[in-house]
Amino acid sequence: MTQELKQLKQELRKKDFQIKELQVLATKDPLTGLFNRRGFEEEVSRLLKDIVYAKENPEARKHFYIDSISILFFDIDNFKKLNDAYGHKTGDQILQQVAQIIRQKVRNLDFIGRWGGEEIVAALVGSHESDAWRKAEEIRKAIKSRAKVKNERVTVSVGVSSLDGTLTFEELIKCADRAMYAAKHERGKDNVVRHSELE
Ligand code: GH3
Ligand code: MG
Ligand code: MG
Repeated sequence: MTQELKQLKQELRKKDFQIKELQVLATKDPLTGLFNRRGFEEEVSRLLKDIVYAKENPEARKHFYIDSISILFFDIDNFKKLNDAYGHKTGDQILQQVAQIIRQKVRNLDFIGRWGGEEIVAALVGSHESDAWRKAEEIRKAIKSRAKVKNERVTVSVGVSSLDGTLTFEELIKCADRAMYAAKHERGKDNVVRHSELE
């Protein structure tokens, strides 16, 4: 191999590495280490496509057993007040604490992303709504008992939705968000609501 060709190969390897690094940066949230909205959407949409394909194709179903997915939509309660009282840096630490607790409570195969400012979403692979509701309750209680600033407890409102036939990623998120909104405004925060409970 000529020296020139060797050099070219080395440069290609370097570029390949840089592209992979950029791909990670483009899909991760730097503060929490979770997926960002884009990364979360990419991962969950890919899985949803497979689930829907397997539902429609008996041959594929023999090799692909996942038939559901559930979304947990978390929003930290009174986060603005916590930021105002203790500062933005402490607010960032609260976000990291909450992200860490959620990460510890779900399986490695599930997906977690930062959806917006103080909103975190989790996709539980293979879970139906009742399992997802139990998991959401477990996480809500864990956050309430473990996440604190000074002597103030941090709580979250959570909405749960599950794949039901024709739901798309956008619809799943919308349903979970609506259920979270009900947990906040109808149940007075620090609550979990399932989308199927809404009128
Ligand atoms: P609610 O209980 O109804 O959810 O009220 P809230 O105060 O949590 O919600 P609101 O949407 O009024 O405020 C969210 C705040 O989150 C406002 C914004 O300054 C803060 N925020 C968004 N992103 C970040 C961040 O990355 N770090 C910090 N420290 N604060 C953030
Ligand atoms: Mg919010
Ligand atoms: Mg909030």
